[in-house]
Amino acid sequence: ARTFVPSLAAMEEFHLSLSQCVVLRYHWIEPFVRSLRERLAAFHRFFCVADQVKVYTNQNKTRTFIGLEVSAGHFQLLELVSEVDGVLEEFDLPTFYKDPSFHISLAWCVGDLAGRLEGQCLRELQDIVDGFEESASLLRIQWEQIRCKSGNKYFSFPLR
Ligand code: AMP
Repeated sequence: ARTFVPSLAAMEEFHLSLSQCVVLRYHWIEPFVRSLRERLAAFHRFFCVADQVKVYTNQNKTRTFIGLEVSAGHFQLLELVSEVDGVLEEFDLPTFYKDPSFHISLAWCVGDLAGRLEGQCLRELQDIVDGFEESASLLRIQWEQIRCKSGNKYFSFPLR
């Protein structure tokens, strides 16, 4: 992909977002995390498959991402988003995309460079994913925990 956009940087850690980034007041952190913990307590571990290469931009189009979109597991992810959205609504915070495209970002760059990554680059990347011998096992992911990051604090909610 760097032959199309040299400024692309690989992600150092991988995640699948269930919310946008929101601004939490300091004294809201504890009740927010408590509410999340309660609402997520009943959820079980599940698998998803992330194997569809897709290009994303953030909402103000200041960054572009190459991600692997989920092709199986969408239903469970929507159920989780519904609980996370419930907590966000309690605190009058913006909820997630109404029609989310669940994905794991692999690389990113500054600016809106979607035009350069879509088309040929995206097709070549998808061919690599499709032709990769171990893709079936590597792209099938079991989710074991939900995490909430606030400032430098991480809160973890294990799935059952
Ligand atoms: P992430 O790696 O989870 O931060 O996602 C990268 C970017 O994709 C975020 O800045 C999202 O705003 C953006 N994005 C664009 N369209 C969507 C969508 N339909 N569903 C989820 N994320 C999206």
